[in-house]
Amino acid sequence: MMQKKYNLVRVRFAPSPTGPLHLGGIRTALYNYLFAKKYGGSFVLRIEDTDRKRFVPNSESYIMETLKWCQIEPDEGVGYGGVHLPYHQSQRGDIYRFHLSKLLEKGHAYYAFDTDEELYIKRKEYQNRGLTFSYNASIRMEMKNSLNMTKKQLYTKLNSGFPYVIRFKITPGEKLKMEDMIRGNIVVHTDSLDDKILLKSNGIATYHLANTIDDHLMKITHVIRGEEWLPSMSFHLLLYRSFGWSPPIFAHLPLILREDGKGKLSKRNVEDLDFPIFPLQWKVPETKTIIPGYRELGYFPEAFVNMLAFLGWNPGIQREIFSLQELIHFFSLKRITQSGVYFNLKKANWFNKQYLKKKGGEIFSYLSIELQKRSISYEMDYLYKVIHLTIDRLHFIHEIWKHSFYFFISPNSYEYSSFNQIFHQNIIDQLESCKKSLLNIPQFTSVNLRLLFQKYNKKNKDKMMKIFRLALVGSLQGVDLFMIFEMLGKKESIQRIEKLMKKIREKI
Ligand code: GLU
Repeated sequence: MMQKKYNLVRVRFAPSPTGPLHLGGIRTALYNYLFAKKYGGSFVLRIEDTDRKRFVPNSESYIMETLKWCQIEPDEGVGYGGVHLPYHQSQRGDIYRFHLSKLLEKGHAYYAFDTDEELYIKRKEYQNRGLTFSYNASIRMEMKNSLNMTKKQLYTKLNSGFPYVIRFKITPGEKLKMEDMIRGNIVVHTDSLDDKILLKSNGIATYHLANTIDDHLMKITHVIRGEEWLPSMSFHLLLYRSFGWSPPIFAHLPLILREDGKGKLSKRNVEDLDFPIFPLQWKVPETKTIIPGYRELGYFPEAFVNMLAFLGWNPGIQREIFSLQELIHFFSLKRITQSGVYFNLKKANWFNKQYLKKKGGEIFSYLSIELQKRSISYEMDYLYKVIHLTIDRLHFIHEIWKHSFYFFISPNSYEYSSFNQIFHQNIIDQLESCKKSLLNIPQFTSVNLRLLFQKYNKKNKDKMMKIFRLALVGSLQGVDLFMIFEMLGKKESIQRIEKLMKKIREKI
């Protein structure tokens, strides 16, 4: 039954090319994609570029590249074609003007000739009286518009070339009952709405007009978009009604909030954020600064998408790792939360780590390149063992060298604070005796080495292990010490211990 109801699902992602997408934007795209795929529907990409003042070059290619990287490509729209061409709003001006003429004919819209200055004065006047000016039923008859002009006056004015806008005529006194799939029932009183502009004085349709007409003509069944558009919903529904069209189903997604409690994520506060906000890197046009994205920072697209899906939705089961196909299967608008969701960088890294565990081959290639760069060669087997030992410490492939270099190169310097703690005469004697024991081990395995260290009391054992770690790694970092010994082998381990002893002697 359900399947049938949603047979014709058509959703759209309708970004404005005003800069790169941030997490919220790409999440909107993802939820639309998941919903479309779940019901065998279509995912449409429409570029809402009517506001030329806010246009930022390269945003469109950024958006398309992001969708590709996330593997959530549209079925239709900009770059993909389709029967509803064109998919750029800037190329649909005639369509908007045609439909707007219908609204004018029906008396749902009117011409307004008030200049910016006149509007400014009115606003000030209201402000001085402690009121807020709203261009609506209570005031429109006092303003310069076609509602208080004869037809003749109107044509004369229009013919004179006087600039005008076209406004939507909101009928006051109505309680508008609306339904949002995520937020449930919402009631808005039309008295609280203003006669919004539908066509700007430059002849270009506003977002509200273009968006509504396009969603209707492109046969969009569900509008899934960010919460910031919730206040526009009443207005859009009134537009549908005035056109005589049935509206799509609306679903407004929760905001993504900053972990530090400083409000919602936005493109504006990128500079002071200590976590990435863009999926791909973005070159700020004015400053040419490059802000790295999740891709450049080493996140896998599957991990990024998995993490993103959970920012505001959950499948209702105790599991967090989902492939794209599984997300499609489990996705439901009903399981989207109403309240804002906090972005958590640790969790994002955790997701990456889970995917990294399955990337042995890629880590191997990365490590091989690191070794090649340093003209170091090792057996494949050895590399795989190193990866096996260190993988649990990594969140990103590029961290492999930082966590494994000591398996390939002997330290040339020692962590200052740890080194200072250990150098005194006794230590040389202790190291000499330990060295002998190490030399005498017939089979230099982690098991035998562990046994050897058991003869020390706890305090001494901890101390010696620290010193050996410093000798082998150069710091107190690294995986299990006995495994490091085994991997390096007897000869290399002893050489490193001697190297440290030499350093200590020089210092004493
Ligand atoms: N162009 C709007 C944006 O940039 C789209 C809003 C909507 O989906 O209706 O987010």
